[in-house]
Formats: sequence, structure tokens, C-alpha cells
Amino acid sequence: MTQFPKNIALLGSTGSIGQQTLDVVRRFPEYFRIVALAARSNVSLLEQQAREFEPSLVACFADTPSVEAAARAAFPNVVLGEQGLLEVTTHPQADIVVAATSGLMGLEPTLAAIRAGKTIALANKETLVMAGHLVMQEAQRSGVSILPVDSEHSAIWQCLRGEQSKEVNRLLLTASGGPFRRATLEQIRSVTVEQALAHPTWRMGPKITVDSATLMNKGLEILEAHWFFGIPYERIDVIVHPESIIHSMVEFVDGSLKMQASLPSMHLPILDALSYPARLNTAGKGLVRELHWSDVGQLNFEALDETRFPCFRLALDAARGGGTYPSVLVGADEEAVALFLGGKIEFSRIAELIEAVLEQHRSVEQPDIAAILEATAWARQATREIIMSHFTI
Ligand code: MG
Repeated sequence: MTQFPKNIALLGSTGSIGQQTLDVVRRFPEYFRIVALAARSNVSLLEQQAREFEPSLVACFADTPSVEAAARAAFPNVVLGEQGLLEVTTHPQADIVVAATSGLMGLEPTLAAIRAGKTIALANKETLVMAGHLVMQEAQRSGVSILPVDSEHSAIWQCLRGEQSKEVNRLLLTASGGPFRRATLEQIRSVTVEQALAHPTWRMGPKITVDSATLMNKGLEILEAHWFFGIPYERIDVIVHPESIIHSMVEFVDGSLKMQASLPSMHLPILDALSYPARLNTAGKGLVRELHWSDVGQLNFEALDETRFPCFRLALDAARGGGTYPSVLVGADEEAVALFLGGKIEFSRIAELIEAVLEQHRSVEQPDIAAILEATAWARQATREIIMSHFTI
């Protein structure tokens, strides 16, 4: 019997996954309770959320003085900065921590939550990409479960229930292909920010939407799958599936395949992580739309073209390189995507910059947290330096 209600600490409550987590909680008030909320800078939304869910702790990372002032004005007892994130993820009443920040921010608070014995619903893929070895080691030591929220990994996790990992032949991650699936190399070169942000099947935050357009996101998901499920990289494949109905598949040694399907929805993988091992009835909740196969008609699958999406290949190279290469990949990608979103570089420069930074890097094997953070900081700096030297020439 699963014990309900579960107490939830939510890291990244104002982002896309954070808001959808609260949608789930709102629909199942008898099953889930919010005990702590943390956001980076959207104080007005955080205030609304706090009013509705009445957490006992509110934290704001507050990366600028004006955000800090607003947070202090809104919440007399707010905990600011890194300390706030740590107090949220280690909140004594929390049973489960939803780690839904994007980028590097989630790493240390997630590790702290694991050490505090919390179940982790992990939506932040960078945490596993950069520090998968540390996170999984720590989880094993503390006896805590790390549950996937990413739709592909949730699908694989669901397919693996009741199965033995030695009987898995390979994992097949599906990819929508992003908005430029049909674009030529020439067209991809001149993509605008607006085009890159118009994803055909998923609504997400801007960073991950650009990562989905470059297919960096799919590359990162291979690393994520490797750490979640302990399957070697050579047995994880990607297939493009533009309808995003099949969320991923597992092929077993006997040749049988299991796949998980639904209409594209992040609410479902979030709910699954929160309610596990139970499944809750979503009928009448207005949360998950029913899948009518006859309306779907047909599903399509095609190979991923690495020549048009070099970021995918770069992620695989970094994965195979190991050490601090994945951390450099994440740092350089964050910086390059920010430069693209700020109108500073062209879309095709994202991959070129990341590749140049990876080539300059000297990897450290089995990095600890300090080495991981140093590698990502170095990668961001190296990315900016390449751009600056480019402009002065
Ligand atoms: Mg995904």
C-alpha cells in the first residue's frame, strides 16, 4: 500500500515542470501536499503559488538585488540563495523532492536531498548528465529512489517494471525530431529564435526548447538513460517519431518490445513519479486527454540524421569521453543557447561553439562536485571567450 498523502518539496516551482507539478497536486489534494517551494526569480508567481498551496517554507534563489528585495517584501521568512534551495530539498516533512530547475542549479540541492533520504522525482537532466556517477552512488548508499520525470525515461521505467535488467537488449528513446525535422542544412543555418522556440509537440521552457530544436536534448537524454537504467551507451538508440505518442521503448533479449504511449503530456510522467508505485485514476480530472487510436491514424518512425543535428553527435562524443566532458557539454550548451536566445549568435553556431570548447578541454576522470562545477564554469568562460575573440578579429 502506498502511503498518501505524500509531502512534496518542489524545486523550480515557477518553471514549466514546476507549474505542471502544481497542476497535478491541485487535482489530487487528498494525495499530495506541498510543504516547500523554491523558485529562481519569478516572485509574483511564487507568491500566488504560496497563497494557494500554503507551504511551510518558501525559498527564492534571487540572483539579483531587485529580486531579493521583492522576495523579502513578499515573504517575511523567505530563505534566499543556495541556502534556500538546500533547505527546501532537505525539508524535514518532505517525502519526495521534485527537482525541476533547469541547468546546473539543481545539482547540489539534489545531492543534499538524497543524503537526507528523500525520494527524488528528477526532471533536471543536467544533474545526471554531469554527475550521474555521484548521484547514483549516493542514492545507492542512502537507499533512496531516483524516479524519472522526463517523458522518455518515465516510459522506459514503466516498461521495465517487473522485468530484469539482464534481460534488456536495448533501450529505444523516441524523438519528435523538433521543429526542423524536415529542414535542410541551409535552412537550419538561418533559423530565428522564434522558429527555434516553436516546438511542434511539446510546450517547455526556452532553454530545453532550443535544446530540442538542436537535438542536444535527445543527446542529453541518452546520458540520462544510461545513468537511470545502468545500460551501456552502445545499447541505447534513438528513433525519430514525430507524433510523440510512443514515449520510448524497451527491447528484450527474446526480441519482444514494450512501449509506453499516451497523447503528449508532461502531467502524466509527473503524476506517475509522484504516485508511484500506485497509479491514480485521472478520469474526470481534466489532466490527461484520452488517446483515441482511430483519431491518431498512423504513427511514423524515421532515422535521426546526425549531419543536420551535430549537437546530438557532440553529446554522444562527450558521453563516450566521460570524465568532465559531459559537464563541459552542459556548460558550453547553456552559454551558447543563452547567446542564441539573446540574438548574439546564429543557430548553427551553437554546435560549432560547443565543439570548439569540447576540443579545448582536458577532462578529469571520476570528477567530484568541485571538479564538475569547475569544468562547467570553465566551459561557459571558454564559450564567451571564443565569441569575444571572434568579434574583435
Ligand atoms: Mg524528454
